[in-house]
Amino acid sequence: MRVLMIAPPGAGKGTQGALIAAHFDIPHIATGDLLRDHVARETDLGLAVKQHLDRGELVPDEIVLDMVRDAFAAARDAGGGYVLDGIPRNLRQARATYEIALELEMTANVALHLKVEADELVRRLLARAKLERRADDTEEVIRHRLAVYREVTHPIVEWYAERGILVSVEAMRPAEQVGRELLTALEVMRPLVDHVPEEARVAVDLTSLGAAFGASPPEKG
Ligand code: AMP
Repeated sequence: MRVLMIAPPGAGKGTQGALIAAHFDIPHIATGDLLRDHVARETDLGLAVKQHLDRGELVPDEIVLDMVRDAFAAARDAGGGYVLDGIPRNLRQARATYEIALELEMTANVALHLKVEADELVRRLLARAKLERRADDTEEVIRHRLAVYREVTHPIVEWYAERGILVSVEAMRPAEQVGRELLTALEVMRPLVDHVPEEARVAVDLTSLGAAFGASPPEKG
């Protein structure tokens, strides 16, 4: 299974990415974690990107694309599956990630879009800030990261819808419910993904399925 996730900060992509990786026994490639690790170890790369992370700005595309190139090569050796968390963040990264994956015959089967409203994201991120003390979880930086998501990341959702690999999930619910729903969807798709040609696929919208998985419907769209 080859999955990439598109989700605003605070939507739960780290949690759900880890769940998917454990469920399918595939590597969890999280560019934010890789970058924070460089910052913590004060490597040259870490020193170069620290300010970007602290301000909630995207780091230069080439840096994260190099990470993905290396991580894809390792994932191929480990069996070929992966869950990408944190990349692509803009259309250029989306196209470049696709090109890299195409060369390795490892293009994503599913682009998983986690939908959460902005107010809820701010609430979750401020709560996380108290627990984790991440440098980029102050209210000002949180609002900036959400604006970056809205302006440059969210538009790539449409690109995946056109490619027919988009699966949208309502993530305004407890993590366990969201996780159960998305693992069910991925399991249903698993036997099909390698057999249905990309041009014959259609986007899947699960956002109205919440009630079937034990949730009351969200108050707003
Ligand atoms: P995340 O943990 O995914 O929220 O990422 C934390 C921070 O790492 C972001 O605010 C960016 O500064 C940086 N980052 C992570 N992934 C990328 C990416 N694909 N492109 C550019 N910057 C990234």
